[in-house]
Amino acid sequence: MRACILTATGANASANLKIADVPDAPLPQLGEVRVAIRAAALNHLDLFVAAGMPGTPPRLPHVMGADGAGVVESVGSGVTGVRPGDRVVINPGISDYTCEFCRAGEHSLCVAYQLLGEHLPGTMAELVTVPATNVALMPRLSPELSWGEAAAYSLVTLTAWRMLMTRAQLKAGETVLVWGIGGGVSLAAMRIAKLRGAKVIVTSSSDDKLQQARRLGADVTLNYRTQKVAQEVRALTDKRGVDVVVENAGEATWDDSLRCLARGGRLVTCGATTGPRVTLDLRRLFWHHWSLLGSTMGNAAEYAEIVRRLGEGQLRPIVDRAYPLAQAGAAYERLAKGEQLGKVVVEVSKD
Ligand SMILES: [Zn+2]
Repeated sequence: MRACILTATGANASANLKIADVPDAPLPQLGEVRVAIRAAALNHLDLFVAAGMPGTPPRLPHVMGADGAGVVESVGSGVTGVRPGDRVVINPGISDYTCEFCRAGEHSLCVAYQLLGEHLPGTMAELVTVPATNVALMPRLSPELSWGEAAAYSLVTLTAWRMLMTRAQLKAGETVLVWGIGGGVSLAAMRIAKLRGAKVIVTSSSDDKLQQARRLGADVTLNYRTQKVAQEVRALTDKRGVDVVVENAGEATWDDSLRCLARGGRLVTCGATTGPRVTLDLRRLFWHHWSLLGSTMGNAAEYAEIVRRLGEGQLRPIVDRAYPLAQAGAAYERLAKGEQLGKVVVEVSKD
């Protein structure tokens, strides 16, 4: 099968990516399906994998890509939910369904949790084999979802959904601060918060992205390069601060995130793109009754819920740009430069 493979880890992802023929993804075993991928979508995760993290990727060459959508090509024994020919979206988080956390329904807390394209061969290939529990029928919409839109949905929407709805327990009428609206999780978080009936303040270093964010529903936009975010947020909220901060930058934004947080506020984080080490004055944590919440991906019930929402026409993905598989390197470069608003997609094969 044709695939986008990583041949070496390092800072320059696109230099280490190659389009090559590799052995087909294995035939599906008990409870598994093999999906003929039509499109894959990039996430920051792909850049981290390409850069190399301890133990990741497990071996080289490595098939890249966490997000994908396609057609079920074959199914293993015991699979009843989908059939060959079905159009599906893929949940990239693979759980063992046996550990204590899985049994409690918390699949993204699985002790053996693995992600496609990180710990396992990914979606940027003509075939990928996954547990049937990791695919969902692609909702039929009008106008119909493109393969790129379908591929762009799962990872960021699932992550943002769990962050806001499950972890931060966002309520209608509350105010949310979302950093870096160009990022996929941030954009999904803004749209979920609006769907929930919250007021959303977003930031970016690009006035162009902020203008697009306003069109997509942002109530207030702040350019963190030219404005002092914490000062502005405190002024906008009569010194009260916001109820929820959505973090994934880490070191660069942490102190300001806390300055923006109201009494009783919740800070929820799923990433550390600018660095993982932050400081905290415990007196402020307890005095203000803050909650600092970690979150990653989501469980099966949350995944089913976001697919249901998509079927209702909500949260339809925003595709920034689509590249053919042969130009996957250019797609990585666009993401690495942070030029996008919305998802960068790679079209793997045609119908
Ligand atoms: Zn488990």
